[in-house]
Amino acid sequence: MNQFRFSRRPDIGDKVRVSFEFFPPKNDEMEARLWDTVTRLEPLKPKFVSVTYGAGGSTRERTARTVKRILNETTLTPAAHMTCVDAARDQVDAVIREFVDFGVTRFVALRGDPAAGVGTAYRPHPDGYANGAELVGALKSAGDFDISVSAYPEKHPESPDFATDIDMLKRKVDNGATRAITQFFFDNDLYERYVERARRAGIYIPIVPGILPVHNFTQVANFSSRCGALVPAWLAERFEGLENDPQTHALVASAVAAEQVLDLVERGVGDFHFYTMNRADLVFAVCHMIGIRSHEAEAAGSAAA
Ligand code: FAD
Repeated sequence: MNQFRFSRRPDIGDKVRVSFEFFPPKNDEMEARLWDTVTRLEPLKPKFVSVTYGAGGSTRERTARTVKRILNETTLTPAAHMTCVDAARDQVDAVIREFVDFGVTRFVALRGDPAAGVGTAYRPHPDGYANGAELVGALKSAGDFDISVSAYPEKHPESPDFATDIDMLKRKVDNGATRAITQFFFDNDLYERYVERARRAGIYIPIVPGILPVHNFTQVANFSSRCGALVPAWLAERFEGLENDPQTHALVASAVAAEQVLDLVERGVGDFHFYTMNRADLVFAVCHMIGIRSHEAEAAGSAAA
């Protein structure tokens, strides 16, 4: 798409900032994999790393444990995801206090998916925060935090139209959101159009593209259809026939993600949030291609020169 234009801009790494998203591990094996990933990505000095929160608060303890470990054992700045599904306001407020007590200053505030699963009707808890905007308000009144919220370049599946979707984003901004992070997408035109819509609606916070390197195309295609993200035909074609060829699949996936990011850089985007799926390799490769290098690698390079 634009690799030749990119190759003429070696300074690009100075202009680009990244953040990484992890999910809390469920068992010892997953825990070990997460920490391998954290250790590999830490030298890239992301702006922050975020840790997701399970449906209905099902991973509250695991999210808290992971965030604590990042705070205590790394140089990284963690952001704790929080949702308000199936929880009364005082329960959510207690979780906010717990995070703050152990040093969290960044949050990703979300409504969360319906407890009965994606696609079912969302019913707010009768004493709870009704949506992401109300949760942002609760966080803002608890302290001067950095608060990220969600944004949906293809609109949230529950939004009847873009106007409703953008209106919800505006309510989150009015209540104190610092930045929006998008749902993953594969068509950069959709992202650009969404940002234009938001700007026209008076939303000026950064709208950071969420980039999902495709670790497993079949899984991504299934998940995309549930969360309303389009999988373009060209993307399916790229991965066609690679179901049993993980090595080529990974090479193609890093090329696809790098192409997407480089095209966004050309369009003026400077911040990227990577959905790592707790795996380092693809994200590390893409970061390398946009000029984000670990200091160890740079030092080794200059020593060899
Ligand atoms: P909201 O922004 O509150 O609402 C989503 C949309 O629903 C709105 O755009 C609006 O159009 C519509 N809507 C909501 N309320 C109303 C209303 N009263 N009237 C009309 N329309 C309404 N899920 C997790 O469980 N844990 C996580 O850690 C997590 N992390 C995420 C991180 C990112 C960056 C993103 C993009 C999503 C994440 N999700 C997570 C998924 C998210 O919880 C779901 O997409 C959920 O369905 C919506 O949550 P939200 O905060 O985006 O909702």
